[in-house]
Amino acid sequence: MFDYLIVGAGFAGSVLAERLATRSNKKVLVVDKRNHIAGNAYDHYNEEGILVHKYGPHIFHTNSKDVFEYLSNFTDWRPYEHRVLASVDGQLVPMPINLDTINKLYGLSLNSFEVEQFLESLAEQVPVIKTSEDVVVSKVGRELYEKFFRNYTRKQWGMDPSELDKSVTSRVPTRTNRDDRYFTDTYQAMPLHGYTRMFERMLDHPNIKVMLNTDYHDIVDFIPFKEMIFSGPVDEYFDFKYGKLPYRSLEFKHETLNTENYLAAPVVNYPNDNLYTRITEFKALTGQKHPKTSIVYEYPKAEGDPYYPVPRLENAELYNKYKKLADETPNVHFVGRLATYKYYNMDQVVAQALTLYKKLTEKSEEVQKATVKPTITGSAAILDKLVPRDPAKE
Ligand code: FAD
Ligand code: UDP
Repeated sequence: MFDYLIVGAGFAGSVLAERLATRSNKKVLVVDKRNHIAGNAYDHYNEEGILVHKYGPHIFHTNSKDVFEYLSNFTDWRPYEHRVLASVDGQLVPMPINLDTINKLYGLSLNSFEVEQFLESLAEQVPVIKTSEDVVVSKVGRELYEKFFRNYTRKQWGMDPSELDKSVTSRVPTRTNRDDRYFTDTYQAMPLHGYTRMFERMLDHPNIKVMLNTDYHDIVDFIPFKEMIFSGPVDEYFDFKYGKLPYRSLEFKHETLNTENYLAAPVVNYPNDNLYTRITEFKALTGQKHPKTSIVYEYPKAEGDPYYPVPRLENAELYNKYKKLADETPNVHFVGRLATYKYYNMDQVVAQALTLYKKLTEKSEEVQKATVKPTITGSAAILDKLVPRDPAKE
């Protein structure tokens, strides 16, 4: 009998397995339908011996000391600050848009103060910022929006930024200084020996059994367990009762090139040309030395493995119907990017999983307290609260 059946060996499932097994001495079975652990963060050495991320570039960044310290139990880190160039008007310019982006694009030599004024003069007035278009045009105006955001977003999401929630393009800031880092989080680093090694260490415990190549549907009726933790798509769990929740997919085209370096930056974005959105060169992320180099192209698709929840009002409304069902399902806990339909980064999923662990342990402590038999040595005051008094015996 397992205490927990955990569906999905990604961040959500693996963090919970690790905490429940090591901290609460629970017996846990983790199943994943893929042939590997680590979910979308899975990395591996390809046939040339280069460490690549099977499901596209994964760069770890967080402002949470708790999350960083927690993961540091399972890995050392390689300090890494991510940088991206965008291919626009035949030039490679820093993305997020910053002082150098503007100067290079328009052949100017503005300072920070002047570029701030320049952007203000371009910005459109938007009374209420609701959509991903509003976010950008209200900061940098329509021309820069069209050069950097409109077509990339249409390609990535299959819809116009005006149809997407503001949270999507809000992920990318605009700067008037020369900071060309993609993220500004306090902790920015890559697991020194890769994500999969980190997951191996998380799951390496006698209380944890891992079954790969296994869809949970195929075993759920045969393996006894007390509670389930589910990190797959929430609509699938409920047999699409209210219809399909849209998830955006990608096709990854991996290549190894007979050259030591290929790109001018770890990632180059192509907002306006090509069918792919971006190319990543893995050695820039991992720091690996190798005479060849491996890259990946990302081609957005509507069908295929679910990678991105699509943030827009009608999808949030549909998700809320599934969430209500999820909340009403006893002994099943939904966690992670697909099961809670949230466009979460890795650190947010780790935080969500740690929070669920806390909730589960608080719940089981309450149950234990309620069912514990009073001992004769307990103080009279405590016994009074736990057992009805029998005056005849006093
Ligand atoms: P997943 O990793 O998706 O794990 C869910 C697992 O459940 C999967 O392995 C799946 O096979 C399994 N599963 C589903 N259904 C079943 C079933 N029926 N039976 C058995 N198993 C099942 N985040 C960052 O912080 N930085 C980045 O740079 C970054 N880059 C990204 C790039 C791309 C292209 C993508 C798609 C995501 C990126 N992310 C990034 C987000 C990151 O991948 C997620 O936040 C994180 O991996 C989510 O973990 P999870 O456990 O919720 O889900
Ligand atoms: N985006 C864009 N142009 C870019 C980079 C990002 O339009 O050059 C928009 C696009 O809609 C994208 C979103 O901003 O989906 C979030 O970008 P991020 O790099 O965070 O995407 P992720 O790494 O999650 O795919």
